[in-house]
Amino acid sequence: MNIILMGPPGAGKGTQAELIKVAYPIPHISTGDMFREAVLNGTAMGKEAKKYMDAGQLVPDEVTIGIVEDRLAQGDCEKGFLLDGFPRTTLQAQALDQVVAKRGKNVEVALNISVPEEILLLRMSGRVSCTTCKAVYNTKFSPPASTGVCDKCGGELVQRSDDKEETVKNRLKVYQDQTQPLLNYYEQQGNLTTLDGNRDSVEVFKDVKAILENLR
Ligand SMILES: [Zn+2]
Repeated sequence: MNIILMGPPGAGKGTQAELIKVAYPIPHISTGDMFREAVLNGTAMGKEAKKYMDAGQLVPDEVTIGIVEDRLAQGDCEKGFLLDGFPRTTLQAQALDQVVAKRGKNVEVALNISVPEEILLLRMSGRVSCTTCKAVYNTKFSPPASTGVCDKCGGELVQRSDDKEETVKNRLKVYQDQTQPLLNYYEQQGNLTTLDGNRDSVEVFKDVKAILENLR
């Protein structure tokens, strides 16, 4: 089971990744965690990546790909993997195909969770969290009993600057621009599956499960 999980911020990718992890014995590999691990473990690629990160620069593709290759070579990926946050570009997707092919395998499915932009805006721009206990609410979908006050501890609820409507719009646009070529790439390969993410996460997962059962 070699799976790639795709979807814009706010699509519920994290929730699906959690559900997949519980149901199937494959590691959930997120780019962020992978980088932190490589840097922490001081691998050759980790050291290389750290140079760029310390300088506040984007880590170049060849380093990112090296880190992914190291990670996929670990024993727990024997039965497959769920990649989250990688690849981000067509170049990275091609490199990933080569890495996986070297191990006699292939990327079987790119799961794309799709949610209309106006819903993503509602989901994300409604998000507030408690300054004290970090509990998360959504002013539209799961509001606290009293506006601006945490139900659990009475702390103050604030919106992250990342979740302000203009910022969210911009993040979504960046995602679209960056990801469309990648969706086209997997479409041409015949392994793109797009799911309607504008539903309850349990319903979405039923579809995910049906697709993954087919791979077994
Ligand atoms: Zn609280």
